[in-house]
Amino acid sequence: KSLFHTKWAGQQVVCYKETDSTNIRAKVLGEDGAPHGTLVVADMQKSGKGRRGRAWESKPGISIYMTLLLRPDIPPVKAPMLTLVAACAAAEALKKCTGLDVQIKWPNDIVVHGKKLAGILTEMSTEIDYINYVVTGIGINVNTEQFSKEIENKATSLFLETGSTVKRALLIAEIVRAYEEYYAKFLETEDLSLLKEVYNERLVNRDREVRILGNDKTYTARALGITATGELIVRRQDGTEEKIYAGEVSVRGV
Ligand code: ATP
Repeated sequence: KSLFHTKWAGQQVVCYKETDSTNIRAKVLGEDGAPHGTLVVADMQKSGKGRRGRAWESKPGISIYMTLLLRPDIPPVKAPMLTLVAACAAAEALKKCTGLDVQIKWPNDIVVHGKKLAGILTEMSTEIDYINYVVTGIGINVNTEQFSKEIENKATSLFLETGSTVKRALLIAEIVRAYEEYYAKFLETEDLSLLKEVYNERLVNRDREVRILGNDKTYTARALGITATGELIVRRQDGTEEKIYAGEVSVRGV
């Protein structure tokens, strides 16, 4: 019996009380031939990761750790856009379930009042010209009351923002539903043409100065919005516009 009112997203669900990370589990399932839309959920993950291998702080029983396994028939270069698809879905689901108007920190984080509420991490297995599978993990701080000293100033939870506890299952269901809808829009054009408005409306620091922290240069520019392929367009002080690619950089408010 299916848990969600969806065609494919979450039609197979694998749950863990505790695991290493939902992305790792989804990759193993991907290698084993699990179908498109398989959802992995854990009550606790012991080695959750963010970008560049950084640790994602996880606590048992109070937050969401979920990963969707996808088998999109698109060129591998387009797969990173699925992070932005997931950000739109998570933002919409959060609004629907909690009323919070969350913002998106390009490319992969959900923030509220400047603090990180959720993170998204997409990983993939590809051959030269096709995708074997993609996994998109979403970690959301739901009923967390306290974070470690290292992140207490930059992390927040739904409980801390709203003062109420949130039922995780309802939020997961809403994310899965919204994801399926946005994924269909993504496939229509194989890019973010139909989603970029939704994304840009929630873009944190839009039309404001941000610091772009690259590997070899750091500069200040105005964040204008994303392109249909998911790069962030910024305008430098001399008026020139530049597209920046996820993975190369971090963006900070100033
Ligand atoms: P930035 O671009 O700001 O550096 P990022 O999107 O690259 O951020 P990630 O690597 O995705 O960040 O996330 C990992 C980082 O998020 C950690 O280094 C830590 O600072 C912070 N973090 C870790 N766990 C949590 C959590 N549960 N909630 C909020 N933030 C967290």
